[in-house]
Amino acid sequence: MLGLLYFLSPMAHSHPPPRYRTLSPWKLWRHGTAGERALLLGGWGLLVLLSVVLGLASVIGRWSGLPLQLGGVQVYITLYPPLLICLWLSLCWGWRWGAVPAYLATLSLALYAGMPWYWALLFACANPLGFAIMVMGYQAIPMRRELRDLSALLFYVQLSFVASIFSSSGALIWWYTNGIDRTAMLAIWQGWWLGSFVQSLFIVGPLMALGWPAIDAWQARRPSLMSTPARDPRRAVLRLLAAVTAAVIAYGFLTLHLSSAQLEQLRSQPGAALGPALEVMQQSSWVFFGVFSLIVLFMAFFGYQLFVHWQRSVDQLLAELHHANRGLETLAHTDALTGLLNRRAADERLFAEWHRTVRTGSGATLVMLDIDHFKQINDRYGHLAGDTVIRTLAQAIKDEVREMDVASRYGGEEFLVILPQTAASGARGFAERLRQRVEACEAVHAGERIRFTISLGLAELKALDPAHLSALDRADQALYSAKKAGRNRTESAPSGDDAPQADRRA
Ligand code: GH3
Ligand code: MG
Ligand code: MG
Repeated sequence: MLGLLYFLSPMAHSHPPPRYRTLSPWKLWRHGTAGERALLLGGWGLLVLLSVVLGLASVIGRWSGLPLQLGGVQVYITLYPPLLICLWLSLCWGWRWGAVPAYLATLSLALYAGMPWYWALLFACANPLGFAIMVMGYQAIPMRRELRDLSALLFYVQLSFVASIFSSSGALIWWYTNGIDRTAMLAIWQGWWLGSFVQSLFIVGPLMALGWPAIDAWQARRPSLMSTPARDPRRAVLRLLAAVTAAVIAYGFLTLHLSSAQLEQLRSQPGAALGPALEVMQQSSWVFFGVFSLIVLFMAFFGYQLFVHWQRSVDQLLAELHHANRGLETLAHTDALTGLLNRRAADERLFAEWHRTVRTGSGATLVMLDIDHFKQINDRYGHLAGDTVIRTLAQAIKDEVREMDVASRYGGEEFLVILPQTAASGARGFAERLRQRVEACEAVHAGERIRFTISLGLAELKALDPAHLSALDRADQALYSAKKAGRNRTESAPSGDDAPQADRRA
C-alpha cells in the first residue's frame, strides 16, 4: 500500500510528463525529409493494408466470442488484430493515424459479412470511437506513455477499459443486423469489450512500454512535424468525464439488461431448472462487480491525477510569479544605466543605517561624489559618451567598495556611497583611493579615450542626527567645498552637528 502511495505521489516524478502531441500529416508532407515521408507514410500504408487483411481474417476464421475461463468465471473474448495495430498507431502518432485503418478494416469485414452498407458505415465507427477516448485521456492529463511507472500503468488500464466499452457499441449493430437472438447478445458484447480490453492491456501495453521511448525521442527531435497541443485542457477533461460517465451507465445497463434477458429465456423454457439460471446470474454478477471496482478505482485515480496535475500547474505559476516579483523588485531598486542601486533604494538603505546608528551607535560615513565638468564632457563628446563615462565611474566604485557598502547613483552624475561601521578617517582612505583610480582611468567611447575626475564630500552619520537626510546634507556641503576648492579632491564635513550652512550650490 505504501509502495502504491509512493508511486502515485507527485514527488515520485519530479519532471512533469510532456503534453500529448501528435504527428501532423500536413506538417510531415511539408517539412518532413523524403526519407521520413517514405518511411512514415509507406509504413502506415502497409499497416492499413495489414489491418484490412487481418480484419477479414477475423471474420473468416470466426475469432469472435471465444469462450475463456477467467478465475472460474466463463467469459467470451473476441480476437481482433487490427485493433492492436490501430490502437498503437493512435497512441503513438495521433488519433487519425489509427482511426483511418480501423475504420477501413471494420468496414471491409462488415461488407464482406453482408451487412447493409449504411449499417456498415456506422458500424465501422466503433473502434475509432474507442481510440478517441484513449487520446482524450492523454490530452486531458499528460501521462507517460511508456507505462513504466505505476500511475502511468493504472491510467492506461482504466482508460483502456472505458475505450473498450465505447468500442463495443459496434457489437450492438453487429447483433442487430445479423438478426441474432437476444440471448446470444451478452456473449457477443462481452467478447467485444473484454477482447478489446485484454488485447489493449496484454499486447498494446507491452508494445508501448518497449517502443514508446524511441518514438518519443524521435518526436522530440522533430518538433516541426508535430501538432501543437491544445492550450486549454479543460475541454478535454470535460469530454473525457462525459465519455466515462456515458460508458459506465451504458455498461451497467447493458450488463443487467442482457443477463436478465438470458434469465428470462431460461425461465420460459419448459421444465426450467434453477441451476443454469443461477450460473448465469452468478457469472454476470462477478463480472459486473469486477468491472465496477475498476470503474470506481478509475474515478478515484482520475480525480487524484487531475488534482496532482492542477496542483503542479499552480505550483509552477506561483514559482513564476515569485520569480517575476523578484525581478520587478530588483528593477524598482536598480539604476538602469549603471546597475547600481537607484536613489529610492539608497534613501531606504540610508534610513535603515541611520536607524541602526540611533539605536546602537554603530555609525557610518556617507560619501557623495560628482563628476567634474561633466557638462563639458557631454558637450565635447556627446551624450552617449557622457553615459559611458558614468558607467566607467560606476564600475570603479563597484571595484572599490566592500561587500557591506552601499553604492548608488543618486542623480545624473552624482553618486552616494554608504560605508557602514566606518569612521570618517577610514572613509577618507576609500574616497582617496577611488578618486586616484578615476583620475588614472579612461572611459573609451567610439575610439575616443576620455579622462575625467571626480570631487567627493564625506560626512559621518551620527546618533544625534535628527533625520537620515541630515548627514546627506552635510556630505553634499562637503562636496560643494571640494568643488569650490578646485575639484578632483575630497573634503570632509566638519565633525559635530553644526555643519557649515554657507555657500550652497545652485
Ligand atoms: P561640476 O564640476 O560643477 O559638477 O560641473 P558639471 O558640468 O558636472 O555640472 P553639473 O554637475 O551641474 O552637471 C550635470 C550634467 O550632467 C547636466 C546633465 O546634462 C548631465 N547629465 C545628467 N544625467 C546624465 C546622464 O544620465 N547622461 C549624460 N550623458 N549626462 C547627464
Ligand atoms: Mg558634475
Ligand atoms: Mg552634478
